[in-house]
Amino acid sequence: MIVKITIDGQAINAREGDTIVDVAAQNGVYIPTLCYTKGKPCLGTCRTCSVNVDGRVMAACTIPVREGMEIDVNGAEITDMRKALVELLFSEGNHNCPSCEKSGRCELQATGYEVDMMVSRFPYRFTPRVVDHASKTIWLERDRCIFCQRCVEFVRDKETDQKIFSIKGRGTQASIEIDVDLANKMSANQVCEASDLCPVGCIIDKTQGFDVPIGKRKFEVKTIRERALEGTHR
Ligand code: SF4
Ligand code: SF4
Repeated sequence: MIVKITIDGQAINAREGDTIVDVAAQNGVYIPTLCYTKGKPCLGTCRTCSVNVDGRVMAACTIPVREGMEIDVNGAEITDMRKALVELLFSEGNHNCPSCEKSGRCELQATGYEVDMMVSRFPYRFTPRVVDHASKTIWLERDRCIFCQRCVEFVRDKETDQKIFSIKGRGTQASIEIDVDLANKMSANQVCEASDLCPVGCIIDKTQGFDVPIGKRKFEVKTIRERALEGTHR
């Protein structure tokens, strides 16, 4: 069934049940996302896609469109709220982009550019986090994890369907964990996919590094906005 909604005042016909974030992209309106992976169940963990729906702030990846919805994506207040959420993610981790393997292919970094972030308005926490290198094939650079849960939900042991990644603890004590025995059974292709699925440089493939030259990396060729609108940022 087709419903009528508005996004930033623009009248749009949309298929009922499609999420706001997808409908917006189909109509040329970019909404930043970090945990969302098109075609997979919504996680709703990062809130980077916050928009104003009929006067209430909601995560656009979690909400299906319905008749008469009025959605504000690019108003000054909601735009600044999304920027603050991205700044918060930077201040909670330890991000040093020039030395990071994921630089140029990192969804957090690319989103930081997109929301015009220069520096976080929040104090940096400099949380001490230990790198986990016990697996044969993966470096777990915990400093960079944004706890999106993509790896937790979507990376599974091929034989048993068991989760390979998990999150231990809560709040400032949270840490991303890896089941080393299961990780050691991952094929090279699965490691590559897991590394690519991570929106930041936390899951790093030990067998290759800095393989794409500067200037040719994913978000240097096309911005994350361009890729999101054409459905290729993930
Ligand atoms: S994970 Fe992304 S934002 Fe963090 S240091 Fe690496 S490139 Fe920068
Ligand atoms: S390791 Fe990467 S994919 Fe997993 S929760 Fe952290 S940021 Fe998300």
